[in-house]
Amino acid sequence: MTVKIGQLFIGGEWQDAQSGKRIPVMNPANEEIVAEVAAGEEADVDRAVVAARRAFDSGPWSKMAPSERASLVWKLADLLAKYTPEMAELETSQTGKTLFDSGKIEMPVAVEVFRYYAGWATKVHGETLPSRPTAFTFTLREPIGVVAAITPWNFPFLLASWKIAPALALGNTVILKPASQTPLTALRFAEICQEAGLPEGVFNVVTGSGSKCGMALVRHPGVDKVAFTGSTEVGKQIMREAAGTIKRLSLELGGKSPNIVFADADVDAAVRGALTGIFYNKGEVCAAGSRLFVEEPIHDQLVEKLKAKAATLTVGDPRDKNTRMGPVVSAEQMKSVLDYVEKGKREGAKLVFGGARANVGNGKGFYVQPTVFDNVTNDMTIAREEIFGPVLSTIPFKDFESGVAQGNATIYGLAAAVWTRDIKKALRAAKMLRAGTVWVNTYNLYDPNLPFGGFKQSGFGRELGTQAIDLYTETKSVWVDLS
Ligand code: NAP
Ligand code: MG
Repeated sequence: MTVKIGQLFIGGEWQDAQSGKRIPVMNPANEEIVAEVAAGEEADVDRAVVAARRAFDSGPWSKMAPSERASLVWKLADLLAKYTPEMAELETSQTGKTLFDSGKIEMPVAVEVFRYYAGWATKVHGETLPSRPTAFTFTLREPIGVVAAITPWNFPFLLASWKIAPALALGNTVILKPASQTPLTALRFAEICQEAGLPEGVFNVVTGSGSKCGMALVRHPGVDKVAFTGSTEVGKQIMREAAGTIKRLSLELGGKSPNIVFADADVDAAVRGALTGIFYNKGEVCAAGSRLFVEEPIHDQLVEKLKAKAATLTVGDPRDKNTRMGPVVSAEQMKSVLDYVEKGKREGAKLVFGGARANVGNGKGFYVQPTVFDNVTNDMTIAREEIFGPVLSTIPFKDFESGVAQGNATIYGLAAAVWTRDIKKALRAAKMLRAGTVWVNTYNLYDPNLPFGGFKQSGFGRELGTQAIDLYTETKSVWVDLS
């Protein structure tokens, strides 16, 4: 089976975009165009909304027995497991992430997310609530309606699964607008929905630009909720536009997460955690540990070990088993990352490793060296702005209070980590850090059961876990007069 690239998936059918325009999808590892997808616009979004509304308002989905929905969502998980090698190939070809990461880590987690929410389809319920003797009062938990999911390019299918699985399991219908650079796994998933026998209109994919296609979804009165993952800047725009129709909104935005190593930590473990924190997926991770705070007594020793380990990370072809870091997603992203490196140098940070384009193979591809800065201060641009690439800012600190305070001194609050052998210190820091996830002596762990999302300008709403049930249901109070 091959992906029906070049068309939109609306109402259970593959349809052409009205504009007839195409968007090229580039493989960042070799700069080849791997596909061209349809450039959907307002008129296409209109058709998708009509289809999704029909499937919700009069179609079978919201009225289906929860157990039946559960088995269809479980079937999606089975098919995703079956097609994992193919989905992983597509993901790697459009993102540059290693085949190991896409096939052995991300797809299996996405499969688990579908299974987890298939389980919830039959377990979400209202409550009977006492009010007065002359009334019988209870609540119902109902699906919100048509959900538009707008997703980024760094974990294209995984982050889509965090939205699609709970939304569908709880009886909503979905329109997915993937990032323009990475639409292929979304389209392949549409075929999987067909194969699973999902009723028409329950799941739709509209590819196209954020400003046209994405914005049309945000403004559309027929869309009940927007679930967005992406940059804080676009999140703000979406929030403003969503006000027009008081849309339900969940926003997973950027981060500048502190990774704080205290002097009593296991230094080797902290070094491994620092590397995973910043170089996993080439640093294109919203929760990347991009600010590494190191307590002064161990600073020199830790930076030396970090340099030595960074030198062992193989940058190269993402399909090669020995590669730890593939190319960043695009030429534009590479330029932006390298511009930040220049800003870091100009503002007085000390470049201790990397800092340039990496030469791989025939010179094609957007490869960037793993990059480590030392002697960074929290007010430098590279410590304040999200780089979204393999660039680490190391910031020495004096004591517990100043480490945690500087960690919190950011507009973001997505994640944080602390490294220490002292349980009290770890738990005190975990309580004080203003972030949606805190890791202790580890980094970058995720599970369908653990809610994920941001404090402050990293967004609001928690995906995954039981918290996501609130994101995809409305609560209704019912009063029955007994007098
Ligand atoms: P982005 O530019 O914000 O784009 C995200 C999605 O929004 C894409 O599908 C994009 O479409 C669409 N979009 C762009 N402008 C829009 C508009 N005006 N209205 C509606 N939709 C619009 O982010 P990105 O560059 O793809 O991803 C990087 C960012 O995502 C980083 O800041 C990162 O921190 C954040 N992120 C956060 C999380 C999290 O869980 N908190 C996870 C991953 C990434 P186009 O592709 O067509 O522009
Ligand atoms: Mg963008």
